[in-house]
Amino acid sequence: MSTSTDHGRPDPEATSPTANSDGRPVSDRGDTVCVIGAGASGLTAIKNLREHGFGVDCYERETGVGGAWNWRHDRSPVYASTHLISSKPFTQFPDFPMPDSWPDYPHHGQVLSYFERYADHFDLRSHIWFGTEVIRVEPVEGERWDVTTRSTGGYGPERTARYAAVVIANGHNWSPKLPRYEGLEQFRGEIMHASSYKDPAQLRGKRVLVVGAGNTGCDIAVEAAQQASRCWHSTRRGYWYAPKYVLGRPADQVNDTLLALRVPLRVRQWLYHWTLRLTVGDLTRFGLPKPDHRVYETHPIANSQLVYYVGHGGIGPVPDVARFHPYAVELADGREIDPEVVVFATGYLPRFEFLDASVFGDSAGAGRPTLWLNAFTPGHPTLAVAGLLQPDSGLFTLSHWQTVLFARLLTARRDRPERAAAFAQRVRDRAGERYSGPVKESSRHWFEVGHADYLRAVQRALVELEGK
Ligand SMILES: Cc1cc2nc3c(=O)[nH]c(=O)nc-3n(C[C@H](O)[C@H](O)[C@H](O)COP(=O)(O)OP(=O)(O)OC[C@H]3O[C@@H](n4cnc5c(N)ncnc54)[C@H](O)[C@@H]3O)c2cc1C
Repeated sequence: MSTSTDHGRPDPEATSPTANSDGRPVSDRGDTVCVIGAGASGLTAIKNLREHGFGVDCYERETGVGGAWNWRHDRSPVYASTHLISSKPFTQFPDFPMPDSWPDYPHHGQVLSYFERYADHFDLRSHIWFGTEVIRVEPVEGERWDVTTRSTGGYGPERTARYAAVVIANGHNWSPKLPRYEGLEQFRGEIMHASSYKDPAQLRGKRVLVVGAGNTGCDIAVEAAQQASRCWHSTRRGYWYAPKYVLGRPADQVNDTLLALRVPLRVRQWLYHWTLRLTVGDLTRFGLPKPDHRVYETHPIANSQLVYYVGHGGIGPVPDVARFHPYAVELADGREIDPEVVVFATGYLPRFEFLDASVFGDSAGAGRPTLWLNAFTPGHPTLAVAGLLQPDSGLFTLSHWQTVLFARLLTARRDRPERAAAFAQRVRDRAGERYSGPVKESSRHWFEVGHADYLRAVQRALVELEGK
């Protein structure tokens, strides 16, 4: 089916040279599918496409697999103490369990070794071009794609190859989202985004302000509580800080049991609320702001230590930052504090620099495509995005099923075009559908999905595609 060598790599003898509209040479890769990125989502895309009989060329800008979890990569957001926030069974690929001997919440080093084992077990590395970044992805006639690559860092010549389909698995946790504040440029202290935070030694003995209450912001505040001479934690609103364990089980496993029993959202909110009342209690007693939303209306924060360190005086909760002065930070309540280091744990934004914004109908180029199942874009049936999800559980299972669906769609295009056409119509009709309850409007929640609702939607799509 593909024009690959035994190793799945483009074979100059087997590819037929052609040219694109600019006259640049293009090697035609026939039915081969291009996968961009070899993190969790790219690896599972290679595996599932190969299992469905497709040739795959994967391009990875770094020199190893694992994406965000490979701490050796320049853009990896993990820090020394990063552990999974989602527990093992709700994170792993369904056909490749993590070892029983591993803890409920493995360390990032274990997660990387998990990907390395996955890549070896399914023999994926031979399909990956490491140290190669994709710089352009352009639709061409016949619903095919011209993919232009070069060595990471811009060395060497550009090469263009033509593919039958493309999976974009470039991740959305590497491009820092930095807030703007009046006076920030004049501030004389150290400013860093959480992506540059690697080790608690960076905070030792210093006065630290951590901005942002996502899971990363809470982790860093907890580390500052133990290492810094002083720690302030600034949040825009009050949040529900859930423990990582409930009734002796990882909290996501308890939540999943309730979802499996189809307990309605309101009842789950009530139960969750009372669990928090019984464990961490009334947050306002600790000086934390009262949440302005119900449980599940913001991305869950799983952190058993934050409230503990607030209770011990190690973390001082403070409101939003109003503006920066050269040697002080003014808070929304008028108070001034004097941190030496400010860590912005303000999240990341997706970027698709290699793609014209019109492909996703994202005219503002904001990185928020309108997709069905967070994966399929109207008008481009041979393009899929994998991993553009912010689930209330782990992500790998979801990326696995997304890419199984795409592999079956490509198979249907060949064998049952009428079913593929019906699928394309569903993409047009349902792009933008949400798979979570109501959530606060914020870029943090652009890709929020409830894993149970999401997996049910993918399952329905598979059934509709295959007509079983
Ligand atoms: C601190 C932190 C904790 C997290 N905890 C969890 C957790 O507990 N559970 C969970 O499921 N998820 C967690 N996540 C989310 C995490 O992003 C996913 O687990 C997972 O890494 C996503 O995999 P991915 O393959 O989609 O993206 P990535 O892991 O980001 O991989 C994308 C790959 O694409 C490559 N790439 C990008 N652009 C190009 C290009 N132009 N050309 C070639 N290659 C390119 C990158 O180099 C990278 O290797 C966490 C994230 C952070 C930041």
